Amino acid sequence: MVFAHDTEAALVAAVELVNSAEEPDTLTEIAQLDAFFVKHVYTGAHSGDAAELAAVRALRTPLRRMLTSDRDTTVRLINETLAKHRALPQLVRHGEVDYHIHAVPAQAPLPVRIAVETAMAMIDLVRSDELSRLSLCADESCEGLVLDLSRNRSRRYCSTACGNRNAVAAYRARKK
Ligand SMILES: [Zn+2]
Ligand SMILES: [Zn+2]
Repeated sequence: MVFAHDTEAALVAAVELVNSAEEPDTLTEIAQLDAFFVKHVYTGAHSGDAAELAAVRALRTPLRRMLTSDRDTTVRLINETLAKHRALPQLVRHGEVDYHIHAVPAQAPLPVRIAVETAMAMIDLVRSDELSRLSLCADESCEGLVLDLSRNRSRRYCSTACGNRNAVAAYRARKK
């Protein structure tokens, strides 16, 4: 593990959320948000209605900006997010999960918690000068984000689909 477990979990979820906006959009139904909630082991408020879905969908563009801007802009966006939602970091543990940071109450709306958790995680990337862990997919036709948490920094594609497509193309190019 490169970063604390809650930092890595928040980044993985944020990148998946941002990438869900790539065509075809994979966050258009409440059931898809339910699945995202379960997959990333969120706790706390989850209204499961159209308003919440719309708010989470609307978060994708500002999150993408926070995750892909230059360092100073990213810092400004992190600080704005934390100030806007009056983040107050607290160490908590619940269920099976050992101590980790919650910076807004569990009953805060899901999109607010996602925004604040992402901003808290981005703090770690900025101050350890590890923003290069985030990049754009190496596939020329893909705008997806890549989060590389591997020690040898070997990830270049946002998905196995993009990785496989490019492996096949490289193989064909070699055979010519
Ligand atoms: Zn928690
Ligand atoms: Zn891709």
